[in-house]
Amino acid sequence: RLMGGLPESSLEKTIEASIRPQTLRDYLGQKEVKDQMELFIQAAKNRTESLDHVLIFGPPGLGKTTMAHVIANEMGVQMRHTSGPVLEKAGDLAALLTNLQPHDVLFIDEIHRLSPVVEEILYPAMEDFQIDIMIGEGPAARSIKLDLPPFTLVGATTRAGLLTSPLRDRFGIVQRLKFYNTEDLTQIVSRSAKILNIQADLPGCIEVARRSRGTPRIANRLLRRVRDFAEVKGDGVITEKIAAAAMNMLQVDQKGLDEMDRKLLEIITQQFAGGPVGVNSLAAALSEERGTVEDVIEPYLIQQGLIARTARGRIATAKTWQTMGISPPKNKHN
Ligand code: ADP
Repeated sequence: RLMGGLPESSLEKTIEASIRPQTLRDYLGQKEVKDQMELFIQAAKNRTESLDHVLIFGPPGLGKTTMAHVIANEMGVQMRHTSGPVLEKAGDLAALLTNLQPHDVLFIDEIHRLSPVVEEILYPAMEDFQIDIMIGEGPAARSIKLDLPPFTLVGATTRAGLLTSPLRDRFGIVQRLKFYNTEDLTQIVSRSAKILNIQADLPGCIEVARRSRGTPRIANRLLRRVRDFAEVKGDGVITEKIAAAAMNMLQVDQKGLDEMDRKLLEIITQQFAGGPVGVNSLAAALSEERGTVEDVIEPYLIQQGLIARTARGRIATAKTWQTMGISPPKNKHN
């Protein structure tokens, strides 16, 4: 499955790093987010202060990590990269924090998965650039305060609702990334093709963009798979026709839905007669984890109006039935 959330091979990581935008100028789409960040960064630089802490949320592959890199680069500082589940002990975070240079960016991916003890360390660090650490054990143990250089925490999470409110309240800047439209994705695909020396004409790039689930990471992956197809089955140039044929082979349909998307829609319409169906039942029927359904599969389908979320569960919409080419059961109003 070509999706945002899966672990990647190291080759994919290297390629991803080579096409990752480094500046706001190269960060395509997300105009509102970019305009705001440009202003906040400029203001912080004018005052020679560190940028306020930034929380970025949005589904996998939409550019959260990239934005953290861009912020560090535009501020002219280093970025340290870690993630919630990696920071097991308070000391892990303390070590990172005490090694920062003034105004550096500390990027914590999956920040909603920090353990409570680690999160506790973060509060005074964010607020006062101080940490309290315990030294020694038993009756001799005491806590000492350490001053930290001013720094910018950039936290990323898939959904804002996953964060505790004390943590959320400590971010001065909160940005929500949206799915990209075809126009922006086309620009992303063209840019990546240039960097990777892939020949693709404009209709070819549009075709890849159209089928990328509104997600740059998927667009970049599809571009590389379509290149393989173009080299073996064509003359190496990605045209609309080659892109469409490659997508069919990859089982990405006309609307850009992949196998898992179609399976989910099938379950809702056929197994559950249009719903409502709870997320746990959906996850079980898909043999996926609940988190994957909620963070990776559903957001795009909801954005496309292909499913709706209600208090009682997920339901099919008129568009769902239309897309599946079947009519809803007679007693259904949705
Ligand atoms: P996330 O951290 O949200 O999972 P990433 O920042 O790792 O997503 O983005 C995945 C890939 O998509 C990056 O390697 C980058 O090349 C590309 N990308 C993301 N956002 C943009 C953007 N706004 N413009 C161009 N490319 C982007």
